[in-house]
Amino acid sequence: MAKQFHVLSLFPEYFSSPFSVSILRRAQEKNLLSIEQVNIRDFAIGKHKKVDDRPFGGGPGMVMMPGPCIDAIRSVKTPQSKTIYLSPQGSLLNAKKCEELAKEDHLIFVAGHYEGIDQRVIDEEVDEEISIGNYVLPSGCAPTVVLIEAIARFIPGVLGNEDGPYEDSFAGETAFEGPQYTRPQEYEGLQVPEVLLSGHQKNIQQWRKEQGAVKLRKMRPDLWKIKE
Ligand code: SAM
Repeated sequence: MAKQFHVLSLFPEYFSSPFSVSILRRAQEKNLLSIEQVNIRDFAIGKHKKVDDRPFGGGPGMVMMPGPCIDAIRSVKTPQSKTIYLSPQGSLLNAKKCEELAKEDHLIFVAGHYEGIDQRVIDEEVDEEISIGNYVLPSGCAPTVVLIEAIARFIPGVLGNEDGPYEDSFAGETAFEGPQYTRPQEYEGLQVPEVLLSGHQKNIQQWRKEQGAVKLRKMRPDLWKIKE
């Protein structure tokens, strides 16, 4: 059965392109995944369909009101659903979390806007808060795309090559894939490393592993430390 994803935001149109190209398009065409949009504004009441208001206690910007967010979540939630709020204050996304979420049958993604959502939405309806990095974006739309693309790679059948996500960087949490080369064999005097042309699979795997480790140590000493 296809995995079911619901995306709740104020700008469903934001997602039309990323969800209709590349692996997400293929995943939907193959009936491995269904992605549906919910406009939180549709749950606003009153003539002006107001979804945000000033923060109690003062401060800059506007906060998304609890009513429309909670009603939007409840309109799609079932006892099997897992509700995720994309938030800079959430736990930092990693490959292990994506693999774990790919096993869920129904995910609800709540994208915040303005200064974020009323805390009571999180307290009442959210199972997990996830951050895509230690920086702040203007909305949860881009983080939702990032999260959905990263999860989709772990849904069996989405990538052509079943081993794909397990051979990429971070598959072992603290490992990088080795450097990649393709044709031509020589480009502006730069040669492809001899070992990759040898056809000797054991040596190639060993070389890629070593090169990945060299890069991990250089670029991510924090992860290298965990590995040691
Ligand atoms: N006032 C909030 C704070 O300081 O924590 C930031 C709100 S941000 C401008 C608006 C929305 O963008 C958030 O509600 C969240 O949905 C999303 N967002 C921003 N940065 C994010 C990040 N690094 N990871 C996930 N979501 C993020």
